[in-house]
Amino acid sequence: MTTATNEYPTKAYGATAPDSGVGPMEIVRRGLRHDDVLIDITHCGICHSDLHTARNDWGRTTYPIVPGHEIVGTVAAIGESVTRHEVGDRVAIGCLVDSCMECKHCDADLEQYCVEGGATGTYNSKDRRDGSPTHGGYSERIVCREEFVLKVPDNLPMAEAAPLLCAGITSYSPLKTWKIGPGSKVAVAGLGGLGHMGVKLAAAMGAEVTVLSRSESKREDAEKLGAHDFLNTSDKTAMKGKTGYFDMVLNTIPVRHDVTPYLHLLRIDGVQVLVGMIDMMPEVHTGILLGRKVLTGSGIGGLAETQEMLEFCAEHGIVPDIEVIPMHDINHAYERMEASDVKYRFVIDMESLREG
Ligand code: NAP
Ligand code: ZN
Repeated sequence: MTTATNEYPTKAYGATAPDSGVGPMEIVRRGLRHDDVLIDITHCGICHSDLHTARNDWGRTTYPIVPGHEIVGTVAAIGESVTRHEVGDRVAIGCLVDSCMECKHCDADLEQYCVEGGATGTYNSKDRRDGSPTHGGYSERIVCREEFVLKVPDNLPMAEAAPLLCAGITSYSPLKTWKIGPGSKVAVAGLGGLGHMGVKLAAAMGAEVTVLSRSESKREDAEKLGAHDFLNTSDKTAMKGKTGYFDMVLNTIPVRHDVTPYLHLLRIDGVQVLVGMIDMMPEVHTGILLGRKVLTGSGIGGLAETQEMLEFCAEHGIVPDIEVIPMHDINHAYERMEASDVKYRFVIDMESLREG
């Protein structure tokens, strides 16, 4: 497995162009630096951001690209100065593999908002030390600086733990930031990977949770996931009935859309947190904001908060609802994700890549 330069030739799946789909390719993982950890990946979740990036929806993809930032696996080797992890440990990597670790945001455990050139993404980024492209978890193994490798609590199954690394933390972080707890009224817009975690987490924090969805077929699921109510967003009367009701709308909708109907649902000082749409927003009449509504966004979470979220899920027995697929089914999984036909997160069993 190891070459003369101690690099690791690695089987992966990636895209070579916006319309190429995702197919087999080989990449090379760097030889271990003193502070690196080598991880044999067991599972990787499929985030809608993977699909956006593979297809260059955001216009900033550098090809070839190996997506995947919901990574779990076991430590296979460590660099000589690594102290946090040992061979055999169950570990995880989310959306970040590095940051400056010195700026005011990194100092405040908000590495995702690193002001020194931004944090280094798990894929579609450049390694801070040698400028090589970073590649994600649709691969047999990954090499990562030890601080960015998290621990998977013992009682979380590996496959189920994977989606927590993005869908989990992206929902958890805003709920914590805006102090959601017993008595809070939270609406979650879009019941997909992020949304279903938002429902489970907010319910576990003691909030009253309502799902806002286009899909009537998800009404029953919403209740099973822990929601107290379900509003079909095309039902104008039902939406109007909840005017001024919620403390927070966690908006996970992945496409450009009018956020005004969700602003109407907020109480004074209520907050709509956009975590889905990464696009220009259709115009919002500021008159509605004069009702002291807050419109904001939130990006994933820092390392400490991600570890905290993993412990919270372990403690409360919260795991995502997943469908495990072999690596070669990835393009079909993308099609189903686009059609909102996933309940509620695909996870790739990486053994299928090793065997394939
Ligand atoms: P997902 O599993 O595909 O779920 C998105 C849900 O949004 C769908 O299930 C659907 O729910 C609803 N939806 C889809 N298309 C819609 C449309 N055209 N109009 C209205 N609603 C629509 O996606 P995900 O993995 O949860 O990701 C959601 C978004 O968050 C993506 O854009 C992703 O890139 C982004 N993201 C952001 C961060 C961050 O740090 N901020 C992190 C991860 C992901 P219903 O059927 O219930 O309507
Ligand atoms: Zn993601």
